[in-house]
Amino acid sequence: MLFIKVTFDQDSYQLHKLLLVSQHSFVIGECMKMSFAGGVDHVGSLGMIMESGDTRLLFDYGLTPGKPPTYPMKVPHTDALFLTHSHLDHIGMAPWLCGEYGTTIWGTEATLEVAVVLLQDSLKISRLESYPIPFDVSDVRRFTEESTIIKYGDRAFVGPFTVKTMDAGHIPGSTMYRVDDGGNDVVFTGDINTVDTRLTTKASPPKCHTLVMESTYSGRPHPSRKQVEKAFLEKVKEVLERGGNVIVPAFAVGRTQEIVQILDGIKIEKWLDGMGRRVAQIYLRHNEFIRSAGSLKKALDQFTFVKTPYQRAKAAEAPIVVTTSGMLDGGPVLQYIRRHKDNPKTAILLTGYQVDDTNGRMLMDSGSIEIDGEIEKVKCEVCHFDFSAHAGHDELLKFAEGAKPDEVILVHGDNREMLANDIESFAKVHLPTLDSTFNY
Ligand SMILES: [Zn+2]
Repeated sequence: MLFIKVTFDQDSYQLHKLLLVSQHSFVIGECMKMSFAGGVDHVGSLGMIMESGDTRLLFDYGLTPGKPPTYPMKVPHTDALFLTHSHLDHIGMAPWLCGEYGTTIWGTEATLEVAVVLLQDSLKISRLESYPIPFDVSDVRRFTEESTIIKYGDRAFVGPFTVKTMDAGHIPGSTMYRVDDGGNDVVFTGDINTVDTRLTTKASPPKCHTLVMESTYSGRPHPSRKQVEKAFLEKVKEVLERGGNVIVPAFAVGRTQEIVQILDGIKIEKWLDGMGRRVAQIYLRHNEFIRSAGSLKKALDQFTFVKTPYQRAKAAEAPIVVTTSGMLDGGPVLQYIRRHKDNPKTAILLTGYQVDDTNGRMLMDSGSIEIDGEIEKVKCEVCHFDFSAHAGHDELLKFAEGAKPDEVILVHGDNREMLANDIESFAKVHLPTLDSTFNY
């Protein structure tokens, strides 16, 4: 089904993709057809296609981060792309779509602005790591030109479709979409969170006939947010009291802004390094998407921002530094770890899920990390805190129940069966693959 041919020349790369669109399709009611371009049975490269008559919509079009990343299937001409939120597994292929078809992009202001930051960063990393990606600077420019802002509660009209936005509670600006073609009613959740965090307000389940829901945490419950915050702050205090440094790797989008607010009560020298600062400024500019602009601003004011190598050297000696990347696969965090790796008093406090084959996972499993191609033993204490921005198993189940759907289509998870078993007690469940076809 999937065939990608890449050629690379000295001046510019060209990616020739010969891909077939998924054969998997759902036909809803009279004329609405749904299929997927990727991301159904794993967390990454999500893309859902909806067609009615001559109109084709796409909901998310992401890639799976990696060196190099992997991609979803190529989609045919698409009239509009609706982005749920600015994580690369949901937005990564949007510039390709703009360059290829001039597709209109819909998203909230927070999603669209942060997306540009991430897409430019993807181009930079691909240059540094010397691998090709299927879009260039002009495609990212096209992305900005084709962007159309949508707010919560707004409706977009494309062909026979009406698309309505709702808060998804995952990160600032994250959106669920209700899609209606005059007879059918489908909700696409993107990624959701159903508990309040310092940064975001929880999502509520919308009543619908067909619920297309993420299932990242199927089979995995979360501890309560309050407990996680308490344990995190106790560990920070313990490390400071024993004279160690606290290194907090955090994802730039969402997690960094939450962590700086959690650290608000710790009055000591704190530094912030990496892309999280730029993202925080976007959130402060569009503060309707965050719970409290005042709280985020007050928390950020206590941090000194790293802008130069000299400042980074100073930050490395400071009691607390919050920095990217969250999974230790590059970014300034590696310099901080290199500086402190032989100090058992220092602690590395991981604040997000560590995917297999990342430096963060290797550190948790073996106590070692790769820096500049060398495997280094790390003597620091390493702790992991479950600050997920996704609903856990029990919350996903409750959310699905609250939507009172007839049908639930589970996507974006590598262990969907456990959640499917629980949902089957109140709705018909589908676990689509890219090769199978369902009609109903
Ligand atoms: Zn996400």
